[in-house]
Amino acid sequence: MKPQRIELLGVPVDCVTMAQSVAFVDEQVAEGAKAAAILAVNPEKVMRARKEPALMRGLRRASLLIPDGIGVVWAARWRRRVKIARVPGSELMPAVCGLAAEKGYEVFLYGAREEVNAEAAAVLPKRFPGLTVAGRHHGYVGDADMPDLIERINESGADILFVALGSPRQEAWIEAHSTALRVKAIQGVGGTFDVVAGRVRRAPKLFLALNLEWFYRLLLEPQRLWRQRVLVHFAVSVVAEKLFGDRAAPPRAHTE
Ligand code: UDP
Repeated sequence: MKPQRIELLGVPVDCVTMAQSVAFVDEQVAEGAKAAAILAVNPEKVMRARKEPALMRGLRRASLLIPDGIGVVWAARWRRRVKIARVPGSELMPAVCGLAAEKGYEVFLYGAREEVNAEAAAVLPKRFPGLTVAGRHHGYVGDADMPDLIERINESGADILFVALGSPRQEAWIEAHSTALRVKAIQGVGGTFDVVAGRVRRAPKLFLALNLEWFYRLLLEPQRLWRQRVLVHFAVSVVAEKLFGDRAAPPRAHTE
């Protein structure tokens, strides 16, 4: 499967469905030669990547870039006229666990606080009977201990690695270590272990159905409003790119 890849403000996005994303992981584990990075694209990350060349490089090198944020979906539909819908990273992760349970693929959970990580590792096999968590480690590892962690992941024999360090930490980690890893697929999952462990709730179904998860989170944490000004900045940049071309944008990070 080769999904259509578009670009928004220099960041690639794949026009994939949830089913295609899961199929990609399946193919990768079955036939992949090296670790494929699966990263989520949302407006916050796009705007950050325009300022941080390392993040832009990590995104541009990823094998699959899922349309995680509704802002990205709207922008892609309007600017590129593509058929595209959200594939939230927090939903892809459980879907991949379902695949792993069915196919006997093993997963490794890296990231989050120790108790959250342990809870996620305990909860997932209950939710997905047959799922093997080959190993796990919390996300507070210093540089000196990184080689041990890489060895531990490799020794576990895991096929799929979930990295939950938040953004852009996880993208940088994946970019730095994927070549040393023997897993076949690596998904950056942000704060998803906290959700799996029941520490953070996702929005009620109605908000999800209306694509208003961002609004629900804003109601719970009004202090996010300042953080979400980046959405306005993203929208303005997308409109400016349409009106004035990429001249309106700062120079894109060099990726080669
Ligand atoms: N996290 C981690 N190691 C770190 C920093 C964060 O494992 O050095 C974990 C944190 O425990 C949480 C997830 O990364 O589970 C998301 O963190 P945060 O909320 O800071 O990231 P954001 O959602 O803002 O990207």
